[in-house]
Amino acid sequence: MTLSTSPVAACPVAPGQLALPAGTPAADGLAQLLPALGELYRDLHAHPELSMHETRTAAIIAATLRAQGWKVTENVGTTGVVGVLSNGEGPTVLLRADTDGLPLAEDTGLPYASTDTAIGPDGTEVPLMHGCGHDHHVTALLGATALYAADRTGWTGTLIAVFQPGEEIAAGARAMIDDGFAERFPRPDVCLGQHVSPLPTGTVALRPGTTMAAADSFRIRLFGAGGHGSQPELTIDPIVLGAHVVTRLQTVVSREIAAQDAAVVTVGSFQAGHKENIIPDSAELKVNVRTFDPKVRERVLAAIERVVRGEAQAAGAPREPEFEPLNAFPLTVNDDSATERARDALRSVYGEQGVQHMARPLSGSEDFGVFGTTLDCPSVFWMWGSFDPKHYEDEDPSQTRPGIPGNHSPRFAPQAEQVIEYGVRGLRAVAAAFHEPGARPI
Ligand SMILES: [Zn+2]
Ligand SMILES: [Zn+2]
Repeated sequence: MTLSTSPVAACPVAPGQLALPAGTPAADGLAQLLPALGELYRDLHAHPELSMHETRTAAIIAATLRAQGWKVTENVGTTGVVGVLSNGEGPTVLLRADTDGLPLAEDTGLPYASTDTAIGPDGTEVPLMHGCGHDHHVTALLGATALYAADRTGWTGTLIAVFQPGEEIAAGARAMIDDGFAERFPRPDVCLGQHVSPLPTGTVALRPGTTMAAADSFRIRLFGAGGHGSQPELTIDPIVLGAHVVTRLQTVVSREIAAQDAAVVTVGSFQAGHKENIIPDSAELKVNVRTFDPKVRERVLAAIERVVRGEAQAAGAPREPEFEPLNAFPLTVNDDSATERARDALRSVYGEQGVQHMARPLSGSEDFGVFGTTLDCPSVFWMWGSFDPKHYEDEDPSQTRPGIPGNHSPRFAPQAEQVIEYGVRGLRAVAAAFHEPGARPI
């Protein structure tokens, strides 16, 4: 099913244009492929799709992988695509790219900017934009898969290329796992992923340990007893109850979390009532939580539930509050020794100076970690620079410059071919390091 309200455009890049003759050395192959990869990137950028509805993108991916010689499985967890390529005995390396766009009106002015629209989850028409760079993720992984299929020297083992839907709503990785991923595909020894970010092109940033925050969002329904605004004594006012909940939630981080730990609790929505003289029956809150440590996460979530139930009881609410999860992103945690190996491999592509140490975890979230935790293998995830370095003159390249529009901005406009080239080389180098330590980078 597609929700697109724009005509489905044919992809101008034929699958065969993204396949290389067997035996093409990787370095030559990348130079040959780059024009077609650039064209594919612009096409994907012009035609984003909503989370879990990436049908056009998935069809392009599946056709391309088949033309390259990969064994392809489609419709894994709705629109996920999995390619498997075996080259003898050896480790199994999982490479993951996410495929979804965002309901966002693009304002980049790029000649290949998206003007597509779709029907959003609430039934209204929404604009579409690849505002998080997942078009780059797909393009770079399809470049790497082409090189691996053609050049089977210098590595042995198995590769799994995972094209995952629905990252933006934390649904896709879980959906692929729930669709029998562990039983249907080889068990990976390591999971690798990369994300374009507003760092200068030609740099990457990564860190061992916690790399991105866990995020939990839920809806809370509070129940009162409605009535006339002039007779509060005959009611139980859910707005006053909700106000106490919102205020008390501010003490979860300030009074229950140690100074050296970090957490964010945000009530982003508080809806109740329609008219000034009617006390409503119920109120609804939407809460978003960010944490960087599983124990802190557990404590914050438990505290929120305790506060909500306690305030409801204090108000004399006629019914227990209801909690409905909206989405949950796990922590993104990089394995220490796998990160060291990845860092060395990335140095072979980006140089000593180009590989930055990420000083702190990012407060953003990802569902990439679902693969590593459920398949019980180490993971490495790194940020991959995508903006013209001249924007960063006199800036600390490890910091995001405020003037450069970041991911999810309507003006997020990464470079094209230069970023693809680094993305392909980075993936290839890191994967090769797990297949054969000291393998020749391209
Ligand atoms: Zn995003
Ligand atoms: Zn993203």
